[in-house]
Amino acid sequence: MTGRHRRSRVKDKQWITPHIVRITIDCGSHYRHTGTDSHVALYFYPPEARVPAEFAADNLTALHTFASPQVRRYTVQRYDPSHGPVDLDFVVHEPAGLASTWARDAVIGDEVLWWGPTEAWHLPELTRTLVLVADETGLPAVASILHELTEGAHAHVIALVNDRSDEAYLTHPLSATGAETHVTWIHRGPASGEPPAEFLRTLDGVADLLSSEPADTIALWSGTEFAEAGAVRRTLLGSRGPLNKANTNVTSYWIHGQAQDARPDARNRRRNLDNRARYPAEAAVHLNPQSSSPVSYRSAVETHW
Ligand SMILES: Cc1cc2nc3c(=O)[nH]c(=O)nc-3n(C[C@H](O)[C@H](O)[C@H](O)COP(=O)(O)OP(=O)(O)OC[C@H]3O[C@@H](n4cnc5c(N)ncnc54)[C@H](O)[C@@H]3O)c2cc1C
Repeated sequence: MTGRHRRSRVKDKQWITPHIVRITIDCGSHYRHTGTDSHVALYFYPPEARVPAEFAADNLTALHTFASPQVRRYTVQRYDPSHGPVDLDFVVHEPAGLASTWARDAVIGDEVLWWGPTEAWHLPELTRTLVLVADETGLPAVASILHELTEGAHAHVIALVNDRSDEAYLTHPLSATGAETHVTWIHRGPASGEPPAEFLRTLDGVADLLSSEPADTIALWSGTEFAEAGAVRRTLLGSRGPLNKANTNVTSYWIHGQAQDARPDARNRRRNLDNRARYPAEAAVHLNPQSSSPVSYRSAVETHW
């Protein structure tokens, strides 16, 4: 297990495109990078939570029975082993969300509570053809996976963006080894929960193109909105799909019209409120009495807990 709870600071902030902001955070000691699309979980606590000074699993169990954090996942776009910090790239979207608003407003020195890294996927060794499908949220993983592509292999990238200005995110050279890479940009406009027709046509074209290649040499990674992930599975992995499932990783990174942890969070809040009523003395130890709202969650950056 490489991941652990961490309390860090924002070291740098840089707008990469008009809608993607890079936040560099200190990752402290014992950070072991787990490769390509590893990700971290940011913790956002309700305003009344008293977060222990030592942010570690053993110290959090009791607090979490009264005040669960809301969690948001972000890809480690880059890790610098010589200096230690990690870069997380946040899409600043509309409608705004907890994490995207936090990233938009973050300033150097702000505190961040997080857990990570999680290991997600490794490029299969035999890969000669790599298909990468991503919207803005999957682009950080795409950039890091492309850097691992070996010489002689080639990649098809299908990238969905709301706005053409965000194409600037993928900078050249895309691959560290000079592996051949072809990017198809699709401009979807604001997401509607329906995959755009041009996206479906492009997936069909890629499926046809790959049908003559040996399945074991093709790998697929995809990180998009939920409905788009469904289209990727149906077209490239279904009965007529050309790929071997073992070489693929298709993930829904977000759901149109739904916050990332909408359902579990509602359950947690109910459980937390019940526990507060049943164990008032313990609750008083973990909660700040002057803060009354159990539903408005503060950002993880406040420096005084
Ligand atoms: C493993 C993993 C890695 C991820 N890596 C990244 C990453 O590196 N960078 C990144 O930006 N995101 C990444 N995401 C996606 C990110 O976690 C979600 O977009 C998340 O919902 C953002 O949280 P939020 O608090 O801003 O919005 P939420 O509170 O979750 O949602 C609020 C509203 O915003 C909408 N929404 C959420 N995301 C978007 C979007 N991108 N565009 C338009 N509307 C949206 C929701 O549908 C909802 O209506 C990753 C997700 C996973 C599972």
